[in-house]
Amino acid sequence: MKKHNFSAGPSILAREVIEKTAQAVLDFNGSGLSILEISHRSKDFEAVIEEARQLFKEILEIPEGYSVLFLGGGASMQFCMIPFNFFEKKAAYLNTGVWASKAQKEAKGFGEVVEVASSKDANYTFIPKDYVIPTDADYFHITTNNTIYGTELHTDIDSPIPLIADMSSDIFSRPMDVSKYALIYGGAQKNLAPSGLAFVIVKDELLGKVSRYIPTMLNYKTHIAEGSMFNTPPVLPIYSAMETLRWIKANGGLVEMQKRNVAKAELLYNAIDSSKMFVGTAAKEDRSLMNVCFVMKPEYKEFEAEFLKFATAAGMDGIKGHRSVGGYRASIYNAMPVESVQALIDCMNEFEKQH
Ligand SMILES: *Cc1c(COP(=O)(O)O)cnc(C)c1O
Repeated sequence: MKKHNFSAGPSILAREVIEKTAQAVLDFNGSGLSILEISHRSKDFEAVIEEARQLFKEILEIPEGYSVLFLGGGASMQFCMIPFNFFEKKAAYLNTGVWASKAQKEAKGFGEVVEVASSKDANYTFIPKDYVIPTDADYFHITTNNTIYGTELHTDIDSPIPLIADMSSDIFSRPMDVSKYALIYGGAQKNLAPSGLAFVIVKDELLGKVSRYIPTMLNYKTHIAEGSMFNTPPVLPIYSAMETLRWIKANGGLVEMQKRNVAKAELLYNAIDSSKMFVGTAAKEDRSLMNVCFVMKPEYKEFEAEFLKFATAAGMDGIKGHRSVGGYRASIYNAMPVESVQALIDCMNEFEKQH
């Protein structure tokens, strides 16, 4: 039976990317060696990391003066690398979910942190909009897509101070204006590659301004100077990332990704909004194009577990909602075909008919 992979992360990758990666594991570039057993300093891998870097710049239209880094440690390592490199006296954070508050928690170890706004009291069902960014803070941190709650900032906001964004789960989902950001980072395992890799896009001129000693591995300048090869980078995920970026480019780039993502999300949200059983959990204006969260209406609550079983039996994988929201979450990243979204909707309709 065909599986439809709605997992939040690690998550669906384009079939082509998986096949190319499998091929590279068996025989990389016809070299007679696996990509798993070659030096990261070999010519062939140097070409891979360079192409991945160039495709980042090309697809996201990254302006001059920014560096693209491929690092280990996931997005979570960035939660502390950011204050190490940018925190001097004070930082500002927007609290839109568990990941946002984990990032904020790390900064608190460095000094004064201003939480400009929070939607925690509403279980993060919306993104706060009326807040003031303190102009005397060193940077303002946001999370553009809240993977757990299915809320998303759909535009690049303006900030009077350096803007830093966790884009783990919506990078490459829409065209964006990189010039508005001081730093963009994320774990690769949501929309780009297998786990084990974090990407960082950083504006070079903003580095080197803090007075503390920064441990070598946590200093962005180390990795910029060494082209992400100060130590052994995550070789295989970087290879898959390169293949995903080739796939995005061949499929029309970010304009086309956004078009497809909007179409898929509208299809699913419309089905939820017109259903008798299901209801969305996120505020409509903040609904994510990547993670669609919904629950059973109170009067159908008794069928919650049954629908999960029903959908799973029909091949829908990974739709159980995060424990802090409950219900269901369909993650419909770039690589998710519209046919799979339709299959989920058919499954919801069929379940409704039977109950
Ligand atoms: C998944 C996720 C993280 C954590 O990523 P790791 O690579 O596991 O550290 C952080 N932020 C957001 C928005 C995420 O979705």
